[in-house]
Amino acid sequence: MPQVEGHIQRKSMLYKTGVEYGDYTLNFVQGCAHGCKYPCYAFLLKKRFGQIKTYEEWIKPYLVSNTLEILDKEIPRLKDKIMSVHLSFSTDPFMMGYPEIEKMSIAVIKKLNAAGIKCTVLTKGILPITLADFSKENEYGITLISLDEEYRKKMEPGSASYVERLVALKKLHDKGCKTWVSIEPYPTPNLIDQDLKKILKAVRFVDKIIFGRTNYCKDVTSGYPEHKKFYNERAKEVIDFCNEKGIAFHIKNKTITE
Ligand code: SF4
Repeated sequence: MPQVEGHIQRKSMLYKTGVEYGDYTLNFVQGCAHGCKYPCYAFLLKKRFGQIKTYEEWIKPYLVSNTLEILDKEIPRLKDKIMSVHLSFSTDPFMMGYPEIEKMSIAVIKKLNAAGIKCTVLTKGILPITLADFSKENEYGITLISLDEEYRKKMEPGSASYVERLVALKKLHDKGCKTWVSIEPYPTPNLIDQDLKKILKAVRFVDKIIFGRTNYCKDVTSGYPEHKKFYNERAKEVIDFCNEKGIAFHIKNKTITE
């Protein structure tokens, strides 16, 4: 098992996110060994602000060791303002092969739930079944942009296989947990030619689907001039599917265009 690269300390933890479907979030890991090549928005931001210099640096995670102590101070002050806390927009709480990170994520969820705060979780790793013992208000999600393992290895090299992610999510669903899937960034056919229907079918048991376009990949606009039409059609496919199955959905901003 790989170890985290090291430990760091922070002064604050919970903050309100600007992400359209988020409320509060926190970031107790710096870096992410999943190393997505879309590229990862969190990596681009850290690079822009000079906190990370290279991809090689980004894929070596550091754990914020005083996370729980900070939460003890922040939760009483913020709990009336918080609707939910998302783990995480800037790393992966269930990073593959890092038990120390998984342990911290579970401790964080436990602490937030104990204060009556609901958590939403999103991962490209494996959701542990022990999450089923926590608040049934929590929402557990995986990212699933394809079912093609070759594409996953190319784009999300350090992540869990699609099958492993799906099996873990289904187990939580079967235990009565709320589950969701993020189909974002959905690739255009110049990146991979695939059938969205098959992905939707694989996740038909979830309570909510989030669908969004690829934003940060130049290949999309230069390599696939029809991308607007493509995303309008795929978004409609998601909406029709969700309406038919009674699944909640959210289509990310700018995915549907005129
Ligand atoms: S899993 Fe998320 S945070 Fe980690 S590299 Fe991929 S996109 Fe970035």
